[in-house]
Amino acid sequence: MCPRSSGRVSKPPAKFGATDPDTAKQGFDDFDAPVSDEGGDGSQSTSVRLRLVGGDKTVDIAGTTGSGCGHAEMHALHQALTTHRALFESASSRTLTCTEKPCCFQCSVILGLLDIDAGEATNKSKKPMGSTEWGASAEVKAYVTEQTGVPFEQIAAVRGYPS
Ligand SMILES: [Zn+2]
Repeated sequence: MCPRSSGRVSKPPAKFGATDPDTAKQGFDDFDAPVSDEGGDGSQSTSVRLRLVGGDKTVDIAGTTGSGCGHAEMHALHQALTTHRALFESASSRTLTCTEKPCCFQCSVILGLLDIDAGEATNKSKKPMGSTEWGASAEVKAYVTEQTGVPFEQIAAVRGYPS
Protein backbone atom coordinates (compact mmCIF):
# COMPACT_ATOMS: atom_id res chain seq x y z
CA MET A 1 0.00 0.00 0.00
CA CYS A 2 1.05 3.53 -0.54
CA PRO A 3 -0.63 5.98 1.77
CA ARG A 4 -0.91 9.49 0.47
CA SER A 5 0.97 11.85 2.69
CA SER A 6 -0.74 15.04 3.69
CA GLY A 7 0.83 17.76 1.60
CA ARG A 8 1.66 20.20 4.35
CA VAL A 9 4.69 21.80 2.80
CA SER A 10 3.57 25.03 1.26
CA LYS A 11 5.73 25.79 -1.69
CA PRO A 12 4.77 27.90 -4.65
CA PRO A 13 3.73 25.58 -7.46
CA ALA A 14 5.96 25.38 -10.50
CA LYS A 15 4.91 27.83 -13.13
CA PHE A 16 2.34 26.21 -15.34
CA GLY A 17 3.81 25.07 -18.59
CA ALA A 18 7.39 25.47 -17.39
CA THR A 19 9.61 22.58 -18.36
CA ASP A 20 13.28 21.83 -17.96
CA PRO A 21 14.37 19.74 -20.95
CA ASP A 22 18.06 20.08 -20.08
CA THR A 23 17.65 18.43 -16.70
CA ALA A 24 15.44 15.72 -18.16
CA LYS A 25 17.95 15.02 -20.93
CA GLN A 26 20.78 14.83 -18.42
CA GLY A 27 18.87 12.39 -16.25
CA PHE A 28 18.01 10.16 -19.19
CA ASP A 29 21.59 10.14 -20.46
CA ASP A 30 22.94 9.41 -16.96
CA PHE A 31 20.80 6.30 -16.53
CA ASP A 32 23.28 3.77 -17.86
CA ALA A 33 20.90 1.39 -19.62
CA PRO A 34 21.01 0.70 -23.36
CA VAL A 35 18.34 2.50 -25.35
CA SER A 36 15.82 0.06 -26.75
CA ASP A 37 12.28 0.49 -27.82
CA GLU A 38 11.66 -3.22 -28.02
CA GLY A 39 8.45 -3.85 -26.20
CA GLY A 40 8.41 -0.17 -25.38
CA ASP A 41 4.90 0.69 -26.33
CA GLY A 42 4.84 3.48 -23.78
CA SER A 43 3.01 1.32 -21.30
CA GLN A 44 4.39 0.76 -17.87
CA SER A 45 6.57 -2.01 -16.55
CA THR A 46 4.74 -4.21 -14.14
CA SER A 47 7.51 -5.20 -11.79
CA VAL A 48 11.03 -4.08 -10.97
CA ARG A 49 13.66 -4.64 -8.31
CA LEU A 50 15.69 -1.93 -6.64
CA ARG A 51 18.74 -3.33 -4.84
CA LEU A 52 20.49 -1.24 -2.22
CA VAL A 53 23.90 -2.32 -0.97
CA GLY A 54 25.65 -0.58 1.89
CA GLY A 55 28.35 -2.17 3.99
CA ASP A 56 27.34 -5.77 4.53
CA LYS A 57 23.68 -4.97 4.09
CA THR A 58 21.72 -5.76 0.95
CA VAL A 59 18.05 -4.92 0.57
CA ASP A 60 15.88 -5.80 -2.42
CA ILE A 61 12.82 -3.67 -2.92
CA ALA A 62 10.09 -4.89 -5.23
CA GLY A 63 8.22 -2.21 -7.11
CA THR A 64 4.87 -2.95 -8.68
CA THR A 65 2.25 -1.08 -10.56
CA GLY A 66 -1.19 -0.44 -9.22
CA SER A 67 0.24 0.70 -5.90
CA GLY A 68 -0.95 4.26 -6.22
CA CYS A 69 2.66 5.40 -6.47
CA GLY A 70 3.02 5.52 -10.23
CA HIS A 71 5.08 3.13 -12.31
CA ALA A 72 6.82 0.17 -10.67
CA GLU A 73 10.12 2.08 -10.75
CA MET A 74 8.61 5.02 -8.85
CA HIS A 75 6.93 2.64 -6.40
CA ALA A 76 10.31 1.05 -5.62
CA LEU A 77 11.81 4.49 -5.15
CA HIS A 78 8.96 5.49 -2.87
CA GLN A 79 9.60 2.51 -0.64
CA ALA A 80 13.34 3.18 -0.61
CA LEU A 81 12.72 6.72 0.60
CA THR A 82 10.09 5.86 3.17
CA THR A 83 11.21 2.47 4.49
CA HIS A 84 14.94 2.31 3.78
CA ARG A 85 15.92 5.97 3.71
CA ALA A 86 19.18 5.68 5.67
CA LEU A 87 20.44 2.80 3.55
CA PHE A 88 19.28 4.50 0.36
CA GLU A 89 21.27 7.61 1.16
CA SER A 90 24.40 5.80 2.32
CA ALA A 91 24.35 2.93 -0.18
CA SER A 92 27.50 2.21 -2.14
CA SER A 93 25.37 0.67 -4.85
CA ARG A 94 21.79 1.30 -5.97
CA THR A 95 20.64 -0.79 -8.89
CA LEU A 96 17.28 -0.89 -10.60
CA THR A 97 16.53 -4.03 -12.58
CA CYS A 98 13.61 -4.07 -14.97
CA THR A 99 13.72 -6.90 -17.47
CA GLU A 100 10.14 -7.08 -18.63
CA LYS A 101 10.20 -4.03 -20.86
CA PRO A 102 12.30 -0.89 -21.13
CA CYS A 103 11.99 1.74 -18.43
CA CYS A 104 9.91 4.53 -19.89
CA PHE A 105 11.44 7.91 -20.61
CA GLN A 106 10.05 9.55 -17.49
CA CYS A 107 11.26 6.87 -15.08
CA SER A 108 14.69 6.73 -16.73
CA VAL A 109 15.10 10.47 -16.23
CA ILE A 110 14.38 10.23 -12.50
CA LEU A 111 16.59 7.16 -11.99
CA GLY A 112 19.48 8.88 -13.78
CA LEU A 113 19.11 12.09 -11.81
CA LEU A 114 19.26 10.13 -8.55
CA ASP A 115 22.39 8.19 -9.58
CA ILE A 116 20.67 4.85 -9.69
CA ASP A 117 22.40 2.25 -11.86
CA ALA A 118 20.70 0.05 -14.42
CA GLY A 119 20.75 -3.67 -13.72
CA GLU A 120 21.44 -6.49 -16.12
CA ALA A 121 19.12 -6.74 -19.13
CA THR A 122 17.55 -3.43 -18.24
CA ASN A 123 16.82 -1.04 -21.10
CA LYS A 124 15.39 2.44 -21.40
CA SER A 125 13.11 3.98 -23.96
CA LYS A 126 13.20 7.48 -25.42
CA LYS A 127 9.54 7.29 -26.22
CA PRO A 128 7.07 9.54 -24.48
CA MET A 129 4.36 8.11 -22.31
CA GLY A 130 1.56 8.99 -24.67
CA SER A 131 -1.67 9.71 -22.94
CA THR A 132 -0.87 7.53 -19.93
CA GLU A 133 -0.69 9.32 -16.63
CA TRP A 134 2.74 9.41 -15.12
CA GLY A 135 3.57 10.51 -11.64
CA ALA A 136 5.25 9.76 -8.36
CA SER A 137 4.51 9.94 -4.66
CA ALA A 138 4.91 13.16 -2.69
CA GLU A 139 8.07 11.75 -1.08
CA VAL A 140 9.68 11.00 -4.44
CA LYS A 141 8.71 14.41 -5.82
CA ALA A 142 10.17 16.19 -2.81
CA TYR A 143 13.36 14.17 -2.92
CA VAL A 144 13.95 14.76 -6.63
CA THR A 145 13.35 18.47 -6.18
CA GLU A 146 15.73 18.58 -3.23
CA GLN A 147 18.48 16.63 -5.01
CA THR A 148 18.32 18.42 -8.35
CA GLY A 149 17.30 21.91 -7.29
CA VAL A 150 14.70 21.75 -10.07
CA PRO A 151 10.99 21.44 -9.25
CA PHE A 152 9.86 17.88 -9.97
CA GLU A 153 6.99 19.15 -12.08
CA GLN A 154 9.34 20.92 -14.47
CA ILE A 155 11.21 17.67 -15.05
CA ALA A 156 8.08 15.54 -15.26
CA ALA A 157 6.55 17.92 -17.79
CA VAL A 158 9.18 16.91 -20.36
CA ARG A 159 7.54 14.10 -22.29
CA GLY A 160 9.97 12.15 -24.41
CA TYR A 161 13.62 12.71 -25.25
CA PRO A 162 14.27 16.37 -26.14
CA SER A 163 15.44 16.64 -29.72
ZN1 LIG B 1 7.96 4.40 -16.18
